[in-house]
Amino acid sequence: MNGNWQLFDRMISASGAQLRLNASVASIALASSEKPARYKLETESTEALSDGETEELAYFDYIVLATPYQFSGIKVGDDVLQHSVDEIPYVKLHVTAFTSPFSLHSGFFHLPPASEVPSLVLTTLGEDEVTGDPGAGKAGFFSISTHKMVTNPKTGLPEHLYKILSAEEITPKFLSALLGVRVPGTFTGQPEDYPQMVEPVSWIHAHAFRAYPKAYPRVTFQDPILGDGLYYTSGMESFVSTMETNALMGMNVARLILDDVTEKQEDMQTEARSSQEYLDGKRLKTEPMEEL
Ligand SMILES: Cc1cc2nc3c(=O)[nH]c(=O)nc-3n(C[C@H](O)[C@H](O)[C@H](O)COP(=O)(O)OP(=O)(O)OC[C@H]3O[C@@H](n4cnc5c(N)ncnc54)[C@H](O)[C@@H]3O)c2cc1C
Repeated sequence: MNGNWQLFDRMISASGAQLRLNASVASIALASSEKPARYKLETESTEALSDGETEELAYFDYIVLATPYQFSGIKVGDDVLQHSVDEIPYVKLHVTAFTSPFSLHSGFFHLPPASEVPSLVLTTLGEDEVTGDPGAGKAGFFSISTHKMVTNPKTGLPEHLYKILSAEEITPKFLSALLGVRVPGTFTGQPEDYPQMVEPVSWIHAHAFRAYPKAYPRVTFQDPILGDGLYYTSGMESFVSTMETNALMGMNVARLILDDVTEKQEDMQTEARSSQEYLDGKRLKTEPMEEL
């Protein structure tokens, strides 16, 4: 109930971390040598301050970049990135939801006239088509689904709610073929040449998402360590884009940080031990001499 975000919200509360909502990271730079921390991070408020106004500086030893770098708008200072960040080859997925009093046109699907179109139609490429072409092959869509019946608030009449997933933006021409009626250039409204006609599309909403990557054959993967103490979880998105795999990346990066911290502590302890041994040894050697 109420969405997946609650899982992560509770995790943050349980961790005791300081949460800064509505604050965008604007830049990451190496901290000056007087600061004990490794990185200087600049944030901008996405609310109160005017565009581009810098809000705050903060200093960190470890930074985990947990968003696709190519869209983050983060400026990175010289010498921060020791490994390059690959662009994630996202597929641009157009999702178009719309309502119509018309059923899907059987002719569009090469079905016999007046036959019922299945409530979910998925496409594959034809034998003569190759992946990587723009669009989704001859079909022009990945899927068309009929979600449910809804009531048009203007007419009080029942209508179908449809959803189309496609690689290209859906056009009025495409919808005209799909519904078998003339859809005006404005999508909604009556066609100019049939002003008395019921609206073929009464409501439409389209949005382009970057939901998953293009699955290229590959032998190398994004290094999650971008620099000393700088980690990147979203490299996983180039391979597979899911909440679970990104959560696993978070766990792996947490482990890398823990290893780094404990290794540093062990180094410090070893250093302290060897300094002590050196001093002890010196004392052992010097004491008899002092007695002489
Ligand atoms: C349409 C769609 C459908 C999907 N369906 C599924 C599904 O069914 N199942 C599934 O498992 N996965 C699905 N995914 C993929 C899934 O959403 C992602 O893999 C997942 O959200 C990645 O989690 P994340 O925490 O790494 O990054 P995100 O969830 O992308 O979080 C990154 C956060 O960083 C913030 N941010 C960006 N720049 C800055 C900045 N400069 N400063 C501060 N904050 C910044 C962003 O606002 C965002 O809140 C879908 C994705 C899309 C787009």
